[in-house]
Amino acid sequence: MPNNPVLAVHGGAWALPDDMVEAHIRGVRNAISAGWGVLGRGGTALDAVEAAVVIMEDDDTFDAGRGSFLNRDGKVQLDALIMDGATLRAGGVGCVERLRNPVRTARKILTESPHVYFVGEGAERFAAEHGMELCRNEDLVVPREIEHLRRHQADAAPPGSELFSAELNHDTVGAVALDRHGNIAAATSTGGTLNKAPGRLGDSSLIGCGCYADNQTAAVSTTGWGEPIMKLVLAKWTADRVAAGNLPEWAAKEAMNYLEQRLKGQGGIIVLNAQGQFGIAHNTPRMAWALKTMTKEDSGAKVENR
Ligand code: ASP
Repeated sequence: MPNNPVLAVHGGAWALPDDMVEAHIRGVRNAISAGWGVLGRGGTALDAVEAAVVIMEDDDTFDAGRGSFLNRDGKVQLDALIMDGATLRAGGVGCVERLRNPVRTARKILTESPHVYFVGEGAERFAAEHGMELCRNEDLVVPREIEHLRRHQADAAPPGSELFSAELNHDTVGAVALDRHGNIAAATSTGGTLNKAPGRLGDSSLIGCGCYADNQTAAVSTTGWGEPIMKLVLAKWTADRVAAGNLPEWAAKEAMNYLEQRLKGQGGIIVLNAQGQFGIAHNTPRMAWALKTMTKEDSGAKVENR
């Protein structure tokens, strides 16, 4: 019997100001439409998460693709990962500067490379060799972020304080999906943190940290302060809790408790298992999210039950 598809997406966890809520909700809903279009046609979870993330990478609202935060040198540097729960195949890119849609290159790596992960120029060369057009870094930079960086650097914040503040925009994007064939997949894409050091890689594109998918456990995408999330290998930690028999809803909340209690980390998470059970949680003031099943469609900037 075919499974009923499920799709959940997030557009980053942080202290989203009131005047930006609408753009974020619109963005995550557009991502749901794109991904659901794929699932509705009987397409794969992998295609659905890619389609959903591409929409958010193309939307300047989010810290992914064009419109991302700038690093200390004023450049956009992007990370992304996509993972297939059926086969455990994965593709990741890190610190790329000339790709409009890093998740597309990540998908190409998953499909066509014996390797899992490419960084920097090597990743861009892989993309070009596989027919993907390279852009200029300036094409990914928007005036809002030039100003954002300028203000941040002018504030002369004490060293280290810029690493993560829920007051700053953190709009990493991610998606998890279940398709009619019973397979799950996950993808995460980010421009990382504001004013990051060049070459800094966050959790988002690392397997088991910002993203994970295994049909036998769960599909997970995280967002938030990357360094603590990495240290806790949080996406895999959460999937393991689901494998141990816990509901994704419980595992999502527990992951946020663990992040907070163990390392005072802040962030958000979406979790989905191959039975279509899901969880959404965050310990930041807000997180843009949207969800669609055969019977309901929902979105918000806050999960009220925390
Ligand atoms: N986790 C991302 C990073 O640290 C940022 C975010 O999710 O907002 O690169």
